[in-house]
Amino acid sequence: MTLDKRLGQRFLPYGANYLDWSDMTELREVIDQRVLFRYQTEGESMASRLERHVARRLGARHALAVHNGTEALRLALVSTRPRVGDLVFVPAVTFVAVAGAVLASGLIPVLVDADESLSLDPALLPPDARRVVVAHMEGTVGPVPEGVPFVIEDCAQSLGARLPDGRHAGTAGYAGTFSFHHNKVLTSGEGGLVVTGDDEAWARMRGYHDHGSARVPGRYPTWDQDAHFGENFVTSEGVAAIQSQQFRHLDALLAGLERMYAIAVEELPDRPGLEALPRAAGDVKVSLRFRWESRELRDAAVAGLTARGIANWTLGKYFLPEHPVLTGRRSLYADGFPWSLVPDAPLVLSRDGFARTRDLLDRTLCVPLSPELSEPDQILAVKAIRQALDAV
Ligand SMILES: *Cc1c(COP(=O)(O)O)cnc(C)c1O
Repeated sequence: MTLDKRLGQRFLPYGANYLDWSDMTELREVIDQRVLFRYQTEGESMASRLERHVARRLGARHALAVHNGTEALRLALVSTRPRVGDLVFVPAVTFVAVAGAVLASGLIPVLVDADESLSLDPALLPPDARRVVVAHMEGTVGPVPEGVPFVIEDCAQSLGARLPDGRHAGTAGYAGTFSFHHNKVLTSGEGGLVVTGDDEAWARMRGYHDHGSARVPGRYPTWDQDAHFGENFVTSEGVAAIQSQQFRHLDALLAGLERMYAIAVEELPDRPGLEALPRAAGDVKVSLRFRWESRELRDAAVAGLTARGIANWTLGKYFLPEHPVLTGRRSLYADGFPWSLVPDAPLVLSRDGFARTRDLLDRTLCVPLSPELSEPDQILAVKAIRQALDAV
């Protein structure tokens, strides 16, 4: 395959490069056992092994595997024992799943404008904010607000990132959530995890995710007299096996991204009209981020890269103030629940009606890095990116 082809294929999730029958020992083990339900295995289930491993790797006290990142967010939110209609402050720039999880929990999202790094700006939060979701988008670690009782870090796009103080992203607040969807750092197609350092929060999440049960492995669910209603977010052994396999490659993957990022920092153009945005040491280097002087130049760069078969993306899709679910307060409930619980006032916090953020998004361009390439190929790839940008 030509280098251009491989670069163009970067829309494949990074972890997919490791999906290989010669490397699927965990999955073979699960199939050999013939038990795909985590609470019916003979010994320790693959799901608990995964959770144990993830908790250790991320320095978290507890981890719980679920079907996807959205369920992880739902669990984190509902485990805070909110009142229906309570406000949750969420980033104005993030995937709509965050707002969906808040609404599905009977809570109301309030869009908080971004700082220069496009992360939620904690300076805009009211002093009495109780629930805040921050999202470390595209590997970029954003600020984690202080003094808020329930901060949920959405790390769907930043598995392996570290905060400036060295802690792993996802462990600084009340809970951290992760996704293994196709487009994330590691993948099992779908998959999610929630981590927390709070024993009681973990017990509540574990109960809710299994019909309210405090299940004892190997036995029919044991119903606690003080159980709460729940749903079924219990993961499957097959998925947990693939996630365990994926986790084995996390460090190599992160190192491959770091290596290509270092090459790019040396090689990329310093040309007028274009700023390469530096990334922090703890960020996961999933992409090079560029900011152009104008939207026209940015769009020309998109066209140039795309014509050369080089993958790239922009971040406009994450601009929630223009998302129809939020602008139209849309809901499948006949009475508009949960929007119906709050008056029509715009549920937003911004100094300028999101004008600056809109402008930053319009001028931003991301070019993914390719951890699986050899160093010589990474150098060639960076040169190809440089040529495309020089030609704009
Ligand atoms: C992908 C994503 C989610 C949702 O994860 P799923 O596993 O797809 O449900 C949530 N937040 C962000 C920032 C995401 O990128």
